[in-house]
Amino acid sequence: MPKKTKLRQLELPLEFRASEFVSHAHIAFDGRLIGYTIKRSRRRGSITLTIDERGLRVGVPWHATHGAIESELRKHETWIVRKLAQWEERRAPPRRWQDGEALMLLGEPLRLTLAPGLQATVSDGERLLVGMGALSRSDDIARTVIAWLREQALACFRARIAHYVPQLLVRPPETRLSEARTRWGSCHPAGRVHLNWRLIQMPLRLVDYVVVHELSHLREMNHSPRFWRTVASIIPDYAARRKEIRTEGHRYLLA
Ligand SMILES: [Zn+2]
Repeated sequence: MPKKTKLRQLELPLEFRASEFVSHAHIAFDGRLIGYTIKRSRRRGSITLTIDERGLRVGVPWHATHGAIESELRKHETWIVRKLAQWEERRAPPRRWQDGEALMLLGEPLRLTLAPGLQATVSDGERLLVGMGALSRSDDIARTVIAWLREQALACFRARIAHYVPQLLVRPPETRLSEARTRWGSCHPAGRVHLNWRLIQMPLRLVDYVVVHELSHLREMNHSPRFWRTVASIIPDYAARRKEIRTEGHRYLLA
């Protein structure tokens, strides 16, 4: 059983379910160590590779050997290295909450500008003037800016909902902001719509897609063809917008 022992050392178990086993391993490409997630599944028949903002994930059949996984990875080395680099490029730099930093509001850049002496937080269209000095703690600045973004978000989302409600012939829902890191919106059967405040950083056409998606759930509480027809009746190019949120949305999850 030497193989099994070797496997255990290479794979750091992260999660175990009866039909799935998730672990972590590394491979060296050209002297560079690349970490990846292995998902073993009893249902899977072949090895599949996925690369996105979470990195490289490999889906493998339950009994696949580590050798088989590594040789599959080597076969696709060029593709893996290129894809990972593309995602790396797309990743927005971490927020530092400093004077001069670029923020986003409805897809337009807004320069964070510290303005000691100013009482409120205001935007002149190009800058977001924050009444704090350069010596302020970055988490105080963050809190102030996020509070301002949330205010803009709620006002914008309410206006967009008011705009689309008559078109969809639904009852105006109660609107709340959400904090979720993994979803942009949700709809509750009681007639409540939750929208992620971080959406306010995206262009309005993407905000509108999420708004119309959630409002459409007030008519169809599922993702049936009828639901998508409802969305398409308001936003004919919804598929392109949905894809854009999938590929670009992670940029806006930082704050
Ligand atoms: Zn949905």
